[in-house]
Amino acid sequence: MDNAISRLLKVLALEKKQGHRNKAVIGGLDKFVSRWEPGARAEVNNQPAMDEIVSLLLAYPAIEDTAMRARILDQVIRRAGEIDATAPGSAPAPEFAPAPAPPTQTEAALEPPPHTSAAETTAEGAKPEKPRERETPVPAPSKPFQAGQVDTRAATPAPVDVRPSGKPEIAPIGLPPAERAPERIARPPREAPAYPHEAPAPPRPVTSPLGLDAPVTRLPAIGPAYAQKLAKLGVHTVRDLLYLLPTRYDDFSQLRTIDRLKWGEEVTVIGTVWDLKSRVIGEDRRLVTAVVGDGTGEMQMSWFNPFVERQLHTGHAYAFSGKVDNYRHVPVIRNPQFEPLDRNQLSTGRLAPVYPLTEGISMQWLRGVLDRTVKSFAAEASDFLPEEVRRQAGLLPLAEALTQIHFPDNHERLAAAHRRLSFDEFFVLQLGVLAARRRFRGATARSVQCDDATLAAFTAALPFELTAAQRRALSAIRGDLAQTVPMSRLLQGDVGSGKTAVAAAALWSAVANGTQGAIMAPTEILAEQHARSFGKMFENLPHPSADRPVKVVLLTGAMRGAERAEALAALASGDADIAIGTHALIQGGVAFRELTVAVVDEQHRFGVEQRAALRQKGVQPHMLVMSATPIPRSLALTVYGDLDISVIDEMPAGRTPIKTKWLTASQRERAYDFIRRQAASGRQAFIIYPLVEETENSEARAAVEEHARLKQTIFPDLRVELLHGRMRGEEKDRVMRAFSAGESDVLVATSVVEVGIDVPNATVIMIEGAERFGLAQLHQFRGRVGRGEYPSYCILISDATEGDGIKRLQALESSTDGFALAQIDLEMRGPGDFFGTRQSGLPPLHAAQLSDLRTLEDARAAAQRMFEVDPELLRPEHRALAAQVADFWQRAGDVS
Ligand code: ADP
Ligand code: MG
Repeated sequence: MDNAISRLLKVLALEKKQGHRNKAVIGGLDKFVSRWEPGARAEVNNQPAMDEIVSLLLAYPAIEDTAMRARILDQVIRRAGEIDATAPGSAPAPEFAPAPAPPTQTEAALEPPPHTSAAETTAEGAKPEKPRERETPVPAPSKPFQAGQVDTRAATPAPVDVRPSGKPEIAPIGLPPAERAPERIARPPREAPAYPHEAPAPPRPVTSPLGLDAPVTRLPAIGPAYAQKLAKLGVHTVRDLLYLLPTRYDDFSQLRTIDRLKWGEEVTVIGTVWDLKSRVIGEDRRLVTAVVGDGTGEMQMSWFNPFVERQLHTGHAYAFSGKVDNYRHVPVIRNPQFEPLDRNQLSTGRLAPVYPLTEGISMQWLRGVLDRTVKSFAAEASDFLPEEVRRQAGLLPLAEALTQIHFPDNHERLAAAHRRLSFDEFFVLQLGVLAARRRFRGATARSVQCDDATLAAFTAALPFELTAAQRRALSAIRGDLAQTVPMSRLLQGDVGSGKTAVAAAALWSAVANGTQGAIMAPTEILAEQHARSFGKMFENLPHPSADRPVKVVLLTGAMRGAERAEALAALASGDADIAIGTHALIQGGVAFRELTVAVVDEQHRFGVEQRAALRQKGVQPHMLVMSATPIPRSLALTVYGDLDISVIDEMPAGRTPIKTKWLTASQRERAYDFIRRQAASGRQAFIIYPLVEETENSEARAAVEEHARLKQTIFPDLRVELLHGRMRGEEKDRVMRAFSAGESDVLVATSVVEVGIDVPNATVIMIEGAERFGLAQLHQFRGRVGRGEYPSYCILISDATEGDGIKRLQALESSTDGFALAQIDLEMRGPGDFFGTRQSGLPPLHAAQLSDLRTLEDARAAAQRMFEVDPELLRPEHRALAAQVADFWQRAGDVS
């Protein structure tokens, strides 16, 4: 065991124990290390490690941020540990080699290497007319200069933004006060980073009588102009500011000495500026370069930001953070963030928060504001979570979580802070869901009975037998309808699984009880199709209490005048039994005599308010919502937490799986041939285009133009029809009707046919520009075929060679299972996007991620326990929580 090393470790342990006050040894760690170094070097053979240790400890006293000091000690202890493990003579080679020969003269070092100027110009000069390439060939792995792992998710650190737009109300945080740069000093051979000669006073903490609800203008740094800008970020009060969560973090917690830099790593280097230069590049850009040394070596920092020159001072030490790049094996950081060492390190040497920005607000400024806000106000955030809940779930106190989420000490503390804030959101969300369910189930609905004989009358009228899965779903629905608690059920089944027949049976139950039913669909085309098929299903069924067949009426936005008036009158009087419609169903003026069963088809296409509005058309009707998109567990617990769920997990018999083939544009002829052959044997085809009309900047093949071309030159002998969203309602209906009746062979269409369209004789769907559509949408398109007895085909046309588009097409080729595809989609898109949670009624989540099932389940369990003892949160100790729940849910609507 090395004597020198163990002595060092003892001192460092004491220093840590004493809270990093640089008091462990008399005179401070820098003095200690100067005394310690000669002896240690004699004992230890690992000179690079020694260089790093010495350099870090020399910098130590100049750093005022305790967390940063702790990180420095950790780094030193790690390196010292390596020395212990390193046999003498096996010192690792420095990563950057060959090391640039250190210039012996100050002036020599001030000259950048001769190649630098040209390289910088081409790399960053942004002169488009000049032929440009990345100047730096990635070093071959065999070279001693190792390529570090580049975290591609972490964006390049934002450049230091110091140009205030408009008048700054305070000096931007992190900038030294404007002062004359000191005389350039000669560089000593090895020295501790110098102190800035005048440390600015730390900002005074502020308090406000209004506490967290005070407007941000109460903060000393923020006047009306900044308040206005913050408002654009949704920040009005101090509380908003505390809850303005970073979107990500730049991980600059890796402290590195210059001799240990690895290409591609995000690091923090503590060093002294030995030379500062700026020169004009190209026409109007100014490149500032600094030569920075830390005792182990030198490197270059560069900025295309003229203001940097005024913020840095030769001879002073700073922490620089950014991604290590290289120029011919010489390390360089472009656009590093930097801070003097006598400040809190907000942007360097740590996990630095990255906030959403808006014009006139810079990252530096916002970090400074948040630093002060957190220090002054985080402790005032009263913890609404009952102590017992917090303890049971092992969560941080709120004040600590709010501090750590902005300026985390390390990754673990960040994770703990994130978990606490996520838990809060899930917890109040679950309390809301439970309350909604309780409220809903507390209402009384009319019991709708459907005995076996009644059901048999309906199924006898169907042209097929129900599948076992359909019967299972139906029996759950019949059970619900018979209750006086209103049904709230989600019927989920893959495209083509036969949800419509199940819905029809539910509506028939309403009619059989002498009441009314309604089904709402997202498009006119779908509503019209339902009207046709329901008309057929019900035309032979006698009404149970009136001497007439069951009457179905259609209500769409396209209906006007007498037609509409007639439909409305029939619904109000009870002459009509079943209403089928679009959003037109939920408009004012639509009234039912007695609506007891309401169905929402393709429910994810509707917003919360629309679903709620349909419910308002009856007195507590039973609700059935239907969707082809499988619901991930996280959403089933949150957005749909108050729904019962039935799944149709079986396709009607006799279906052959759809064959899917991806062709390139040059293989299009093959697809046309195939369609021709299918048409010759009596089948029909869809051809889908991404846009209605050709736009200037898009090569999308427009349905309108393509229809003309296909009709004249490709399929002159076939009946080719056109369908797109801008056509009038009657025209759309005519085209669809003709296609359904087999009176046309090819339907050229836009995405209007995406959902619900049911033409069992159609066997081919060809999708142009397939990479432009989402996975769920493509799966829906494909579901337009394979609905009958014939083998069916989906042809994807795309020349995509990169990006997510490829993954989607490959996924589609390899699977016809909607659940598997939804899983892939969820992974590719994230849950919010995936299910349109924004319109699903979920209050916006800021910290919590729906994929975080563990926290969600914990919060749910805690909410259920709480709900058992105090469902209405009436106890005094739950008052703060009740307010929080009310506030959170105010941002949402009805969840069902
Ligand atoms: P989705 O679940 O996508 O809404 P549909 O209800 O439109 O599916 O049904 C798809 C097709 O399957 C329709 O043509 C329908 O008539 C038919 N179908 C539904 N149930 C059965 C069944 N049990 N046997 C045979 N065909 C059925
Ligand atoms: Mg459907």
